[in-house]
Amino acid sequence: PCTDYDVAYFKAYSHIGVHEEMLKDHVRTSTYRNAIMHHKDLISGKVVLDVGCGTGVLSIFCAFAGATRVYAVDASDIALQAMEIVRENELSDKVVVLHGRIEDVNIEEKVDVIISEWMGYMLLYESMLGSIIFARDKWLKPGGLILPSHASLYMAPVTNSQRYHDSIYFWRDVYGIKMSSMMPLAKQCAFMEPSVETISGENVLTWPTVVTQVDCYTIQAQELETITGAFKFMSMLQAPLHGFAFWFDVEFNGPVRQKSKKQPSQSSDGNAQNTSPSSKKKKPDVSIVLSTAPEDAPTHWQQTLLYLFEPIELNKDQIIEGSVTISQSQQHARFLNICLKYL
Ligand code: SAH
Repeated sequence: PCTDYDVAYFKAYSHIGVHEEMLKDHVRTSTYRNAIMHHKDLISGKVVLDVGCGTGVLSIFCAFAGATRVYAVDASDIALQAMEIVRENELSDKVVVLHGRIEDVNIEEKVDVIISEWMGYMLLYESMLGSIIFARDKWLKPGGLILPSHASLYMAPVTNSQRYHDSIYFWRDVYGIKMSSMMPLAKQCAFMEPSVETISGENVLTWPTVVTQVDCYTIQAQELETITGAFKFMSMLQAPLHGFAFWFDVEFNGPVRQKSKKQPSQSSDGNAQNTSPSSKKKKPDVSIVLSTAPEDAPTHWQQTLLYLFEPIELNKDQIIEGSVTISQSQQHARFLNICLKYL
């Protein structure tokens, strides 16, 4: 059922600003275009479903790649704009815009390809992935292509004295007035909730860990309800630990997974294994990756930071162990509850 939250969510996507931001995110939009062109052979002459088409940009890329028909679905009023854009590009005979939720619309046929840009902050915020699973199970032909095909969520410990200084220590002396009494409130306001901001590779204290990996061909909705990742970091530097950063990447592979060396295997006890930063190594295969890592070109997703109220002085080679649990909020299915444990 469509909740009040959904109404507000789709209303947010009717504003031009969000679409402008996404389209101007060149890393995002051009990587999608490259991926579509890379899989031209699987798209040309085929039927495509674009889940959450927005302005219709990905649908039109697919039409350019030779798709015979593209169903472009969006529940937001931006779909009305998508219809105009399709018309303006004289693609009305190929791209069919449907204004409605993917869960509610009726499509005349099964599709060969599903494309979607569903990723939220920290990968899972907004929980749109459930709608891709729904579309896959209802509309995708067996053996069909899903773009993107795989996603990984990473985390790493970070040091960020500048941020701590700007938001917390600032209150020690304001125009010569002591305002240290504000510091507890400042911590509450700045660090209670995850913060979306851009950090650099220099803030990261050691190699990231994979919190979770998603295979869009096989993932089930129940698996998304609660995700737990264990971590064990060894700091490469002596520095204050201010918190943990999260970021993700997505891959655009065909239905049979191309093994990329970057993907670490899960150990038998289920603990995530440390891996090298995503971009540093050249991939041995031709897998196309959209990365939001701190050492890669920035995107509108930036990174998501969980700050500690008190920094912890770390020695070189000191170990930080713990786990993070990300679960969908019971009250608001598009929100996440994050529980971080560390010692
Ligand atoms: N594909 C576009 C827009 C991506 S933003 C682009 O790449 O620029 C995600 C879009 O998905 C939003 O416009 C939102 O309204 C839509 N969306 C999210 N969940 C949906 C659902 N269940 N049914 C239909 N549209 C959905």
